[in-house]
Amino acid sequence: MGFSTDAVHAGQQPDPSTGAVITPIYQTSTYVQESIGVHQGYEYARGDNPTRSAYEKNVAALEKATHGIAFGSGMAAIDATICTLSAGDHFLMTEDVYGGTHRLFSRIRTRHGLKFDRVKTHEVEAVRAAIRPETRMLFVETPTNPNLLISDLRALSALCREHKLVMVVDNTFATPYLQRPLEMGADVVLHSATKYLNGHSDMVGGIVLTSNEKLAEQIRFIQFAAGAIPGPFDCWLAMRGTKTLGLRMQCHDASARVLAERLDAHPATLRTIYPGLASHPHHELAKQQMRGFGGMISFDLGSREAARVMLEEVKIFALAESLGGVESLISQPAEMTHASISQADRDALGITPGLVRISVGIEDLEDLWKDLEDALAKVPAAVS
Ligand SMILES: *Cc1c(COP(=O)(O)O)cnc(C)c1O
Repeated sequence: MGFSTDAVHAGQQPDPSTGAVITPIYQTSTYVQESIGVHQGYEYARGDNPTRSAYEKNVAALEKATHGIAFGSGMAAIDATICTLSAGDHFLMTEDVYGGTHRLFSRIRTRHGLKFDRVKTHEVEAVRAAIRPETRMLFVETPTNPNLLISDLRALSALCREHKLVMVVDNTFATPYLQRPLEMGADVVLHSATKYLNGHSDMVGGIVLTSNEKLAEQIRFIQFAAGAIPGPFDCWLAMRGTKTLGLRMQCHDASARVLAERLDAHPATLRTIYPGLASHPHHELAKQQMRGFGGMISFDLGSREAARVMLEEVKIFALAESLGGVESLISQPAEMTHASISQADRDALGITPGLVRISVGIEDLEDLWKDLEDALAKVPAAVS
């Protein structure tokens, strides 16, 4: 089936007891049993819930996975995946991963005996050089945030196979509509469903997708045993979101392409980062492994003051963290999303005080441009 047919139908049969077209919110903690151990497949809602199952099957179909395992947040999904490793194991992760991922690994999981190194996964040879005998996993984010660096998923998966590493991809920014890592050889894909999958900024959730039976069994067990599950209403909201994922991504992508070109040409910007721009260092790779370039754009206005004016002057773009919703958002990564990483790291990653990140929503393109243009007119001139 095509992407949007699956998005609307996969995992969702009309409710057998009533014929309801939409999967109900099964707001229950437990299920009646006929006799000891005789039940309809559901015992206790930490273990399973029909709304959650429908949602898991739905996203699994979109990522071409055989298993979907949902969590109460993107971080819980990432943590469950990392918990398949054991004390003493070493893993590699993309240098500029999501700040929360770095915080989880460096401040919690290293205390439990896991070791990791950050590596520029957009340079395959750098990854090869960082592999140690005890390395078990490669955790890749592509495109990254806010630099939108692209890692070569096919080349990395070949490397992982060679060294028997489990390859995990955080596909939050691209979504399965634009990029399907499992089809390029990854073992596990995961999402912060809070972002594009849900798409309406009204829930927090995460989901892990895989076709590897052993990993699926381990992660399903962690979901049940550790219990970081999403509630049925959040699953229902996310599944309502995935139905329009294709439509929304087409719109985010089409608008972002135009806005990136215009921002790049505007005299107030020092540089504009968007994988769809020919000037992006990984533009060709993005064209090969993605169906589009997505809705995230970063641009440098040269100073904190310029960024502050920009963020305060826009009227449609909301000054907020997060991304991937129908509404456009604007942020300054240095002091917002990336405040938890050190100044030295921010400098090394080029996350300057003047860097502004936007999540392009589905509002009318010309309204969005006018909003950006009006704000840019008020920004003090950049000093390069
Ligand atoms: C937001 C985000 C996360 C964390 O997800 P939560 O749902 O906020 O827990 C992980 N990875 C990426 C790329 C994100 O953008």
